[in-house]
Amino acid sequence: MKIANGMVVTMHYTLTDDAGTVIDTSRGREPLAYLHGFGNIIPGLEKALEGQQAGFRSNISVPPAEGYGERDPNAVFEASRDHFDPDMELAPGVQVYAEGPQGPVSFMVVSVSENGVMLDANHPLAGETLHFDVEVMEVRQATEEETAHGHVHGAGGHQH
Ligand code: ZN
Repeated sequence: MKIANGMVVTMHYTLTDDAGTVIDTSRGREPLAYLHGFGNIIPGLEKALEGQQAGFRSNISVPPAEGYGERDPNAVFEASRDHFDPDMELAPGVQVYAEGPQGPVSFMVVSVSENGVMLDANHPLAGETLHFDVEVMEVRQATEEETAHGHVHGAGGHQH
């Protein structure tokens, strides 16, 4: 069965950066299941898997434009300290959330001064070329319910 829109793909993956450092891996846990053609995974990876089948194993490099985008220098800005709960732990590397017009937005705290907090709205992997070692374990037709929801149910997918 070939990977195409509306198929559920179960795969193991290991994601490394340019230096070969492992950022994330499914090895040692349940493989990831995603619904192909619904933007569940980054575009570059989805494109590389199109037409493949179970047993396919490959190293796929995805440039930033087809991954999490380029880093936007304008997405780094200072917010006033009084926007934050005084009890909130603010330190470099901490992830904070705000309610945006399209739902919650996450920011990474870059630095903290007495009055301000430098925030970075870029995705942590923006600007990175991503290297995936993928192994397709299973390809199956999505159920009608999965297609309606736009995601996979059950093992490796949404539990609800
Ligand atoms: Zn669902």
